[in-house]
Amino acid sequence: TDFKSDKQPTWCPGCGDFGTMNGMMKALAETGNDPDNTFVVAGIGCSGKIGTYMHSYALHGVHGRALPVGTGVKLANPDLEVMVAGGDGDGYSIGAGHFVHAVRRNVDMTYVVMDNRIYGLTKGQASPTSREDFETSTTPDGSKQPPVNPMALALAAGATFIAQSFSSDALRHQEIIQKAIEHDGFAFVNTFSPCVTFNDVDTYDYFRDSLVDLDDEGHDPTDYDAAKDMILDSSKEYMGVIYQDEESVSYEEQHGLTENMSEIPDGAPEDAMDLVREFY
Ligand code: SF4
Repeated sequence: TDFKSDKQPTWCPGCGDFGTMNGMMKALAETGNDPDNTFVVAGIGCSGKIGTYMHSYALHGVHGRALPVGTGVKLANPDLEVMVAGGDGDGYSIGAGHFVHAVRRNVDMTYVVMDNRIYGLTKGQASPTSREDFETSTTPDGSKQPPVNPMALALAAGATFIAQSFSSDALRHQEIIQKAIEHDGFAFVNTFSPCVTFNDVDTYDYFRDSLVDLDDEGHDPTDYDAAKDMILDSSKEYMGVIYQDEESVSYEEQHGLTENMSEIPDGAPEDAMDLVREFY
């Protein structure tokens, strides 16, 4: 697609991040976006390299801080399509506080977490979504903690769109990201994106065999209670749009922030303006 840059990814051959990114690029194109109106903000980790491999505006942010940057980009330039990407370590550990507040603020952007349940870039430490008993370099006797349930966190924070996807199921993944892009508000897509180098438990085969596709279940994503039951049911893993509030109105629409901000607004503190001038 037009969204592919000329940089060759340095991800390991077979990494799930390839499929996750391909689906994002195709979904962006399919929803009528182009590189001139798209801004990708990435965190730190293997997934954080995505902004280099996609042809669009992009910013490779600080660890765990991609969401506040994305929020600023969107509020200053509401005409842009903003995609924020990161990994499970980036988003659910150091970035967990930002995640909760981005969810409740409901700014219109899509957050794709490439969840491989391990820290890949730093060579295989347990992450917030690593399974209990999983043996890694930092948990040689197996992790002693239950994993974070990111969708429960999102639901509790008042999410208006929660989905789960799988990088290897190309068509479903693209379709789920398209629905996230089209949602008016903060759309969260936890995407299983296997790390073939450091995680021999949460593999392609595991997800292929275990994921329950919500399209086959006749699930109605507007049914909050059904979504809550699915999210809290740890015996199954679901793929698809789990919850969507179809009445959602984005933060910027609610607060009349729909014009691009061409200059620093009147009333901004003088020292903040000095800081901006110093930078630019
Ligand atoms: Fe992908 Fe894992 Fe390699 Fe990172 S270490 S590029 S997550 S396979």
